[in-house]
Amino acid sequence: MRRLIEAPEIQQRVAQLGRQITDDYRGRPLTVIGVLTGSLVLVSDLIRSIELPLRVGMIRASSYAGRTTTGTDVSLDLNLLPEVRSRDVLIVDDVFDTGRTLTAIVERLKTAEAASVRAAVLLWKDRPREMQWTPDYFGFKIPDVFVVGYGLDYNDEHRSLPYVAALEPGDL
Ligand code: 5GP
Ligand code: MG
Repeated sequence: MRRLIEAPEIQQRVAQLGRQITDDYRGRPLTVIGVLTGSLVLVSDLIRSIELPLRVGMIRASSYAGRTTTGTDVSLDLNLLPEVRSRDVLIVDDVFDTGRTLTAIVERLKTAEAASVRAAVLLWKDRPREMQWTPDYFGFKIPDVFVVGYGLDYNDEHRSLPYVAALEPGDL
């Protein structure tokens, strides 16, 4: 594994994001919705740096190859989702890759009549993508490599690493 972002850097940047979010919402209550399971660590650090009246919920998203050869569908499990109608919602995910997961969630929450929907991610992969939409907050831009740690897994391993590392061919 090749380390990309060390733990103290992440801590510092997440605290900064928390302050930025605190300033942007100016005391308005916020509903934070984490995308399971990769956002677990970010959600837990970020919510402790946001000084606003806060509710926290989670959502599960899985992408699966569709029956067509093009495209991937995203299925959302909304069972853990709190009421979002008329609320300001911040979706939190680990990484912005193709962007399909987050755009599907944003669309779904708009349908549920949230007052506003923004998204925050730890990592933003530098790669081409089809959509115009991008997250409102991000921690770090990274190259288009497969990463683990700070919530991100490979076959359910490495989630609890306090740093972010790229897997190398020998790790697979
Ligand atoms: P997207 O819908 O943006 O393509 O993908 C988002 C999801 O794919 C993330 O929430 C994450 O679960 C998974 N993913 C994308 N890139 C990586 C990566 O480099 N490492 C890990 N562990 N998961 C990734
Ligand atoms: Mg995910």
